[in-house]
Amino acid sequence: MSQRIQAPRGTSDVLPEDWPARRGAEAVAQRILEAAGYRRIETPTFEATELFARGVGESTDIVQKEMYTFEDAGGRSQTLRPEGTAPVARAYLEHGMHKAPQPVKLWYLSSFFRQEKPQAGRFRQFWQIGAEAIGSADPAVDAELILLLHAILTESRVRDVQLRLSSLGTPAARSEYRAHLQEHLRANADDLSGEVRERIDLNPLRAFDSDHPGTKRVMASAPRLLDHLDADDAAHFAEVRALLDAAGIPYEIDTTLVRGMDYYTRTVFEFVSGALGAQSAVGGGGRYDGLIEMIGGPPTPGNGWAAGIERMLLAAEQRPEPQPVVDLYVASAKHDNGHVEAFALAAEARRAGLAVQQELAGRSLKGQLKQADRIGARYVAILGDEGIALKDMESGEQETVESAAAAVARALKGRHPG
Ligand code: AMP
Repeated sequence: MSQRIQAPRGTSDVLPEDWPARRGAEAVAQRILEAAGYRRIETPTFEATELFARGVGESTDIVQKEMYTFEDAGGRSQTLRPEGTAPVARAYLEHGMHKAPQPVKLWYLSSFFRQEKPQAGRFRQFWQIGAEAIGSADPAVDAELILLLHAILTESRVRDVQLRLSSLGTPAARSEYRAHLQEHLRANADDLSGEVRERIDLNPLRAFDSDHPGTKRVMASAPRLLDHLDADDAAHFAEVRALLDAAGIPYEIDTTLVRGMDYYTRTVFEFVSGALGAQSAVGGGGRYDGLIEMIGGPPTPGNGWAAGIERMLLAAEQRPEPQPVVDLYVASAKHDNGHVEAFALAAEARRAGLAVQQELAGRSLKGQLKQADRIGARYVAILGDEGIALKDMESGEQETVESAAAAVARALKGRHPG
C-alpha cells in the first residue's frame, strides 16, 4: 500500500457533523447583517501580492511571515488572501462603489490563509465572517459595526465575551507616539525579548502583544497612545463610547490594544472569550481611513471587522443538533423489478416536495425498516408483490395503497409542518 495522504498541517476538514452548528452561526450573521443593510460580497481567493504588501503593511507579521505567495505562469506574484479588508477595499475602488450612497455596507463569509504555527483555535486555513462599511467617517459607523458583531456573538451563544476598545488616532499622532515608544523601548532594551528588540525600528507597537515576561514589565510602564490623541481623534473616540453606552454595550478601554494590520486609524476593538485558550480573540476590527489611499484610491474613510468562525464555534455553548427531517423512506420487498419501481416512487415523491431517502445498500426488508427507524422517517413505503404498503412509523399502522401517487399524497398529508 502506498503512503496515506493527509490534509496539510494546520488545516481541517469540515465534516457533516460540524455543519449544523456552523450553519447556525452563519445564518445568525447573515440575518443580523442583512437586516442592517449589509450586502454580501465574495472576492477572489488570491490577489496580487502588492495589495496586501501595501494594504496590510510591509512591517506586519502577516506580510513578513505568514502569506502563501506564489508566482503564476505569467511571472506575477500572487497571494492567497490572508484577510478580507484589503480585497473588499480593492473591489470598492474597482467597481466605482464611491458613486453609490455612502457608506457602502458589505459582508463576507470566506476562507483565509496564514502560515502561522498551528495550535488550538489557530489554523492555516480558517473562515471568517466579516463586515465593512466604506465611505463615511461618522463615529456612528464604528459603534454600529461593534453593535452588530456583539449581537452576532450573543445570538450565537459565544460564552464569556468581553469587548476591548481603544483608539489609534491618526497616522500623524501615531508616528509621533511611535517615537516616544521607541525611546522607552531603547532605554529598556536589555529587558526586552530578542524579537521585540530587533523590531524597535520597524514595528514597536507590536511589543504590546508580547508574552515575554521582561517585555511585559517594560510595556506596563510604556507611554500609551490613548494619552497622545489629538483633539479630533479624542472627540471621535468619545462619541463612539457615548453611542455604545447609549446602546447598552459594555466594553473595557484597553490601552495596550494594537491590531495586526497597519491600516487601522482611530477606533480599534476586539472581542475576546474566556472560553478560549491562548488564542482568545473571537473577532476584531476598526477604522481604516488610510487604506483606500494606500492601495491607489482617493482618500476614503472605512471601517470593518472579522470574526473567526472556528473560534466562535469553539467558544459557543453546544446545542443539540436537530435530526434532518425524512418524510418518506422507500423500501423494497420485491425481487424482480422492485428496485426500479421503488426508484420511480422515490423520484415522484421528491418531485412532490417530500424529503425522501431510499434503500441504497441492498439490505433485507428488516434491515431497511431498521434503517428507516434510525433516520427518523415519518413513513415507509414498502413495494412488495401485492402492491405498495405505507407504514406510519409514529403509530406503527400499515395500510395498502393502490398507487405510487396515492402513497405520495398520503405522505404529503401526514407530513409534519416543517
Ligand atoms: P484578524 O483578521 O487577525 O483581525 O482576525 C480576526 C479573527 O479571525 C480573529 O479574532 C480570529 O477569530 C480569527 N482568526 C485570525 N487568524 C486565525 C487563524 N490563524 N486561525 C483561526 N482563526 C483565526
